[in-house]
Amino acid sequence: MPEIIFKYIIGALLGIIFLTHGFSGARKRRYGSQPLTRRNRIAQVLAFCIFLTWTVFVALYLFSAQLDGFAIALPIWLRWVGVAILLGGVICFVSAYLTLGKNWSLHLEIRSDHVLVMNGIYSRIRHPMYTAYILLGVGFLLVSANLLIGLTLLAPVLIICLTRIANEEAMMLEKFGGAYQEYKQRTGALLPKIRFSKN
Ligand code: SAH
Repeated sequence: MPEIIFKYIIGALLGIIFLTHGFSGARKRRYGSQPLTRRNRIAQVLAFCIFLTWTVFVALYLFSAQLDGFAIALPIWLRWVGVAILLGGVICFVSAYLTLGKNWSLHLEIRSDHVLVMNGIYSRIRHPMYTAYILLGVGFLLVSANLLIGLTLLAPVLIICLTRIANEEAMMLEKFGGAYQEYKQRTGALLPKIRFSKN
């Protein structure tokens, strides 16, 4: 019985991811965006292919028994922890997306009217959206209890997010200089910075 609930949760979240990506495309058309550099275009095509492959695996997991060989025996409580992690990922993503507003983009770019956002969730974490993707990756692994579903998402997400952070911060430093340097010192990259003293 719980297995079907976990499948519903995964199916529903995948639907939401598709809808929000359609919405982000429409948003990009509305706000306009700079032309993609060759590097960004390659990165985007690669990420799209990975996501598409993962979607096919999820479809097989949802509607057939073909991926049962990749199942891992996780206790039910751990799979519910996965549901909580997925929820945390969604909250983190929505909060970051709304706070970043027009400055959000799928690929790395500085817009002509770009402002440095340092409020809301960005007052504590510099890359909450990447935190959200990693939480979603971990959540999908635990909820599906399937190595193929989990790792074909989590591994690329980790590689993409961790390599992007360095490039993104170099880009932000070049644009915002000292303000970004100061912002970097008082915030954490993926988790809030733990302060041991008040000074
Ligand atoms: N790394 C951030 C944002 C991801 S969207 C996160 O994980 O939440 C990627 C775009 O966000 C980049 O092209 C960059 O221009 C922009 N960006 C990243 N941090 C920003 C900030 N603090 N203020 C404004 N724009 C930011």
